[in-house]
Amino acid sequence: MSLEPPLLVLVGVLGLAIGSFLNVVIHRLPRGQSLLTPPSTCPSCGTRLRAIDNVPVLSWIALRGRCHACRAPISAQYPLVEGVTAAIFVLVAWLTPVGPGLVAHLVLVVLLVVLFGIDWHHQILPNVLTLPGIVIGFLFSLLGPPGWKASLMGAALGAGILYGIAAVYFAVRREEGLGMGDVKMLAMIGAFLGWKAVLVTLILASFSGALVGVGLIAASRGGMRLALPFGTFLSVGALAAMLVGEPLVTWYAGFFVP
Ligand SMILES: [Zn+2]
Repeated sequence: MSLEPPLLVLVGVLGLAIGSFLNVVIHRLPRGQSLLTPPSTCPSCGTRLRAIDNVPVLSWIALRGRCHACRAPISAQYPLVEGVTAAIFVLVAWLTPVGPGLVAHLVLVVLLVVLFGIDWHHQILPNVLTLPGIVIGFLFSLLGPPGWKASLMGAALGAGILYGIAAVYFAVRREEGLGMGDVKMLAMIGAFLGWKAVLVTLILASFSGALVGVGLIAASRGGMRLALPFGTFLSVGALAAMLVGEPLVTWYAGFFVP
């Protein structure tokens, strides 16, 4: 049984508020700054944001994407992260039965959104997120799906596959194609979602990564080497695996089982 519509609205509001905090995490964590102090200020003029400037999405629209004091543009990333977090929260709460599994999925969404944002900007996946993430995912698996065995196998498979690919790539190309951050991130995804979801995540991430890569190379008219942060694709792949992984596997298996 999933949540009733009035509660889904509440989950959406919660998602907006958490998304607002995730903006702070994405900005400050890679810079080694405190997540709680000082309060948010305009990056251009240093004016402290008023409470009314901190309402997710709405403030940005009301201010037309500009600081109230100096009119410097405020990145559309802020309302985007808030809106996307809220939308995914509602989708997950709608599709997941109420229980420890739902809480686990929402926690994983938080981690995936932050890892996406930080990998996008800095091409790093901080250990301070992925390593505790592996432990938290495993602890949740003791209370609900996918169960602790699938969780352990997921963490091992996630780390093993990407470590293997990274080692082969390094042996062939003599340069680092995949970072250890990706290895730990897929282990974390496996700890939360189990080993089957690791395979779905990896296939979706590689496929979408290849599509976007080809598109970017075509757009830049060849020659240019582009380093795409694979963690962003792992985030999107894991979200898809979480939301539609089971129907996807059933549909795919339908081609082979008469
Ligand atoms: Zn300003």
